[in-house]
Amino acid sequence: MEILKLGYDELLERLYSKLPLRRTEVAVEIPRLETEVAGIHTRVKNFKLVCEIINRDPRLVLRYLLKSMGAKGSLDRDGNAVVHQNVSKASLNKLFEKFIELYVKCPTCHSYQSELRREGKIWVLKCLACGAETTVRPAW
Ligand SMILES: [Zn+2]
Repeated sequence: MEILKLGYDELLERLYSKLPLRRTEVAVEIPRLETEVAGIHTRVKNFKLVCEIINRDPRLVLRYLLKSMGAKGSLDRDGNAVVHQNVSKASLNKLFEKFIELYVKCPTCHSYQSELRREGKIWVLKCLACGAETTVRPAW
């Protein structure tokens, strides 16, 4: 795992507290996805952890990545992603960064502290830092 400015415990505490975060808080560093080749598959070793950090359902993140690549895949017993083809760490992270840009980052204040919820056919990105709500178009 690469840089994490907050301790893991502190991070979990924040994720699980329902209190809105103050604007002045330091942005959380989102680690890059770490991959390993497993035969003809590619396993994302820190997938579960990274999804916890960005506060997103791993199944949704995986669906997005797979659809973008036109690949098949699944979550393993540990909740980490397995892509059923060989994919480079760089290209996977590029797609993941796109996901962050579209579905995690607040367009108003650029905070990554947000949540995504579904209202019927509409998906709403709600920023926990500034409170802005943005409608997003699902691509999964
Ligand atoms: Zn915001």
